[in-house]
Amino acid sequence: MVPIGDVPMGGSYPIRIQSMTTVDTMDTRGSVEQTIRMIEAGCEYVRITAPSVKEAQNLAEIKKELRKRGYNIPLVADIHFTPNAAELAARIVEKVRINPGNYADKKRFETLEYTDATYNAELDRIRDKFLPLIRICKEYGTAMRIGTNHGSLSDRIMSRYGDSPLGMVESALEFLRICEDEQYYNIVLSMKSSNPQVMVQAYRLLVNRLQAENLKPYPLHLGVTEAGDGEDGRIKSSVGIGTLLEDGLGDTIRVSLTEEPEAEVPVAYALARRYDDRVGHAPIPPYTHYPITPFEYNRRHARQVLNFGGEHHIPRVVADFSHKDKLTPASLFALGYHYSVPLDKWNIADTACDYIYLGDKVADFEIPGTLGLIYDYPTWLAQRTRDRSYPVFEADQYIKALDRSQQLNFVRADIHTLSDVRLETIKQDPTVVLVMNTNNAHGMAEQRRVFAMLMEHACDVPVLIERDYERISGEQLQLFSATDIGGLFVDGLGDGIFIRAQGCAPDKQINETAFNILQATRTRISKTEYISCPSCGRTLFDLQETTARIRSRTSHLKGIKIGIMGCIVNGPGEMADADYGYVGSGPGRITLYKGKEVVRRNVPTAKAVDELIELIREHGDWLEQESMVS
Ligand code: SF4
Repeated sequence: MVPIGDVPMGGSYPIRIQSMTTVDTMDTRGSVEQTIRMIEAGCEYVRITAPSVKEAQNLAEIKKELRKRGYNIPLVADIHFTPNAAELAARIVEKVRINPGNYADKKRFETLEYTDATYNAELDRIRDKFLPLIRICKEYGTAMRIGTNHGSLSDRIMSRYGDSPLGMVESALEFLRICEDEQYYNIVLSMKSSNPQVMVQAYRLLVNRLQAENLKPYPLHLGVTEAGDGEDGRIKSSVGIGTLLEDGLGDTIRVSLTEEPEAEVPVAYALARRYDDRVGHAPIPPYTHYPITPFEYNRRHARQVLNFGGEHHIPRVVADFSHKDKLTPASLFALGYHYSVPLDKWNIADTACDYIYLGDKVADFEIPGTLGLIYDYPTWLAQRTRDRSYPVFEADQYIKALDRSQQLNFVRADIHTLSDVRLETIKQDPTVVLVMNTNNAHGMAEQRRVFAMLMEHACDVPVLIERDYERISGEQLQLFSATDIGGLFVDGLGDGIFIRAQGCAPDKQINETAFNILQATRTRISKTEYISCPSCGRTLFDLQETTARIRSRTSHLKGIKIGIMGCIVNGPGEMADADYGYVGSGPGRITLYKGKEVVRRNVPTAKAVDELIELIREHGDWLEQESMVS
């Protein structure tokens, strides 16, 4: 447990919710009013940027005004590059966040060669710069977050460990060891990245290293940086944060959306409060051996069955239409298939599902050539001669069935119905895809256990992950399914996704959620990715409006990653592996990047989006919108 003002973190305390202000820290009234809005939305800590000493000083005014108005919320100063601002802020607020990548180092994007001696000399230099802050924190009872960001690792760390989860962990441990030497333990740790896969691996590795080095089990602050806005931001955040919460890791969360900070709070709240009644879920058999690699991505090998599994097949998306009265060409519109009457042709979107589960309903028209239909076994018997029609069996039904498809048979099972005998039968049948479902309240962990069971039996059947949801809102569906299913894809588990959520959201939204989960886990790319920062007191332009403008011009550029960052101090580092970058470099000025390289400096804001498009065109990544329709 770490005391932070009146709101302790860690131990058996609830998962705390926090966010960060976006107004200029020198605007005392604006900062106070935004903080109050955040408190009223449910924030338990509020972080405020202190880019220099003058902002650090103004934290005293903000705090004074908040206390005067009766708000005792702990404040956190966010520090990059400026130890003197940190040392001042640590005397004023309850917690200071430092970034070990830039507390004592300037980023020059250089690859430097270090011997052990020069590396250790660097650590001594860090110690000298860092000790004053530790001593002030001890004296004033101030907590500290050592907050590593994947995008802003120091050149020293990059040269030795590379741009990796291990580098992120080492970056924090360098600072943490100094704190422990000084017997200073009021520490929270974070390992953020805009890539949920990297972020999940880094936190897990951090916990592993803390245990291995006999360091204390410090509380963890979870977050996905630059997650973006809208559904994309929510799903990316849930894949990263949710996966770790499912693993039992995380003591506070911040969801970083390119939206007002108050909008982040309900998302964080929904993710955290989901665990309030999780205690006492149905037991999951213990592992004798854990065959999944938690610190690096390895896709589980699955044999190829039609377009499932194999080396090259992307995960498939199955839509549930079993509850519809009738399937018509018009109803396929929501699933990405648009029928053009004059052309007598189907246009297929990048987010068109691959299969539709119809249950006992029947499609009586010519379906698009890329689509498959899945029927309950008795209904399939009458449809079996039609192209691309496949049966789904319950586990028991499959064992007894005399009639099966020659190409593809879906078999539905969970941890209870997948006995050794059934598993062996499935293993021998090269036409089976397992539809894995669960009723366990901790369903992700149970499904992960089933994957381990398959691996123990060397059963390489492709797996379609099924999850059923009811009586939740559309937004909860996004967050929960991204956690439950995304958490498995992050570990390389799963060959398809099947979300059943009748009544929770429109068909179109459910289908897009499935594709967005695959996009966030980087297992199937169907659209442009935006890595946009949440904005803060440093931001130099209207991030929300600019992100919307860039999105409206580029959303058809499938597979391209565009970074949209509010300031040049942290932006270039934080936009990580973006292909193109749009970064505020001064009032009314934007600097454009191709990868990590500056290609146009100080472009006036009014022309910057056009110049970005021009840049994308110059590098051969531009497509006219019309050409995307197939
Ligand atoms: S990149 Fe965005 S959130 Fe990060 S410091 Fe700059 S303006 Fe603030």
